[in-house]
Amino acid sequence: MSVIRTLQTQLQQGDRTAVDIAREYLERTQQLESKLKSFLTLTEEKALEQAAAVDDRLQAGEELSPLAGIPIAIKDNMCTKGIATTCASHILAGFIPPYESTVTQKLNAAGAVMVGKTNLDEFAMGSSTENSAMQLTANPWDLDCVPGGSSGGSAAAVSADQAVISLGSDTGGSIRQPASFCGVVGMKPTYGLVSRYGLVAFASSLDQIGPFARTVEDAALLLQAIAGRDPMDATSLDVEIPDYAAALKPEIAGLRIGVIKDLMGEGCEEDVKELVQRAIATYEELGAEIVEVECPTFKYGLSTYYIIAPSEASANLARYDGVKYGLREEADSLIGMYAKTRERGFGAEVKRRIAIGTYALSAGYYDAYYLKAQKVRTLIKRDFEAAFAKADVLLSPTSPSVAFKAGAKVGDPLSMYLSDLMTIPVNLAGLPGLSLPCGFSQGLPVGLQLIGKALGEMQLFQAAYAYEQATDWHKQRPPIAIA
Ligand code: GLN
Repeated sequence: MSVIRTLQTQLQQGDRTAVDIAREYLERTQQLESKLKSFLTLTEEKALEQAAAVDDRLQAGEELSPLAGIPIAIKDNMCTKGIATTCASHILAGFIPPYESTVTQKLNAAGAVMVGKTNLDEFAMGSSTENSAMQLTANPWDLDCVPGGSSGGSAAAVSADQAVISLGSDTGGSIRQPASFCGVVGMKPTYGLVSRYGLVAFASSLDQIGPFARTVEDAALLLQAIAGRDPMDATSLDVEIPDYAAALKPEIAGLRIGVIKDLMGEGCEEDVKELVQRAIATYEELGAEIVEVECPTFKYGLSTYYIIAPSEASANLARYDGVKYGLREEADSLIGMYAKTRERGFGAEVKRRIAIGTYALSAGYYDAYYLKAQKVRTLIKRDFEAAFAKADVLLSPTSPSVAFKAGAKVGDPLSMYLSDLMTIPVNLAGLPGLSLPCGFSQGLPVGLQLIGKALGEMQLFQAAYAYEQATDWHKQRPPIAIA
């Protein structure tokens, strides 16, 4: 059963107060933090204040949102007024946002209780959270392994029950891949469904905010609370938001599921393939129609992404120059100050991306790289269109492997980039994608990726929910959460 619904019932019946729940989560978070390091900032005081306000509103007989009193963690690249927002980068040292991001504003209004801001790869660039300039986050299933990334802290926090739900951002897989590594549900909505006002920009044509949760219903409830048009974000879509959670049913008879052949072969661990095959068999038993689809351009997804994302990042990160935000290293000249600030403030991966992006956008190279990548992006979209002519929802593994050991890939950026082979095409096409647990390999969780049509969130949740109800992978808890 949905964790949110369970807590809501307890609150409504007066079995527990929101303050009790907040205390329980804050205490567990404190206990586990020395091992996990999911959080960059704990916001204990704010959480207790928000919880007390929910209790007052309950006392007054107000009808509250399902998220009222629910402990939530926020990735530290979303601005929270008066609370440090670091993007896990030294360059934002001392930056306290003077405004609230739209998502956190909506969550505050809904009465959600923020327990803290979570660790990430610096500026969300990475797949293991090891690019954080602050700390290493551990995977709750095996403390020697990475939690995935870049939203590693948000995934680990939900997996270890330090928060009921959390928010991440996904530019190339940063919600789905850590969800897969940590054994939780992670969802990237259609591009534009959730406002990005107050989300620190990485690659603006790809970035989306989305939910982490232990169950599909909880993820649907969280998306419900944050989705919708926002005048502060010109890229946000003006569409009606359906009641995702209310429409969930465990039936999917007749649903056409397209298995992406090109993501089931090379480079994928045998155990992962095997478990995904079993998930396909489960879908067949549930009455879905399984078809195979071919997406031959997906093999260019990674190289396309690593032109487009760094190009956009190089432009977005130009603003960190020691003048307006965070760190400033004094020097003899203005240019010297810029250079010194950026040299000291950014980590190696961020510098690598700025260098690649600046090169790809420079005169004489623009056509050969950025423009060409945009053309391949169109071809990838067309492959999706052809696949969706045959299927309602597409399926693949989320990641080619399970969580790897910390340190295993830090010296080899290319092998780290391969971690997002299966998630990247979804961002390039702006589609919704979801990862949910589908088994274990050597004690580590494996994720199943489902992909929907643009604005097909409802069908996507429905497909995920039916599988979840037919299996009990989501009920398994990491050893650290039980101890
Ligand atoms: N791992 C990918 C990268 O390093 C995706 C990151 C993301 O989605 N924020 O760019």
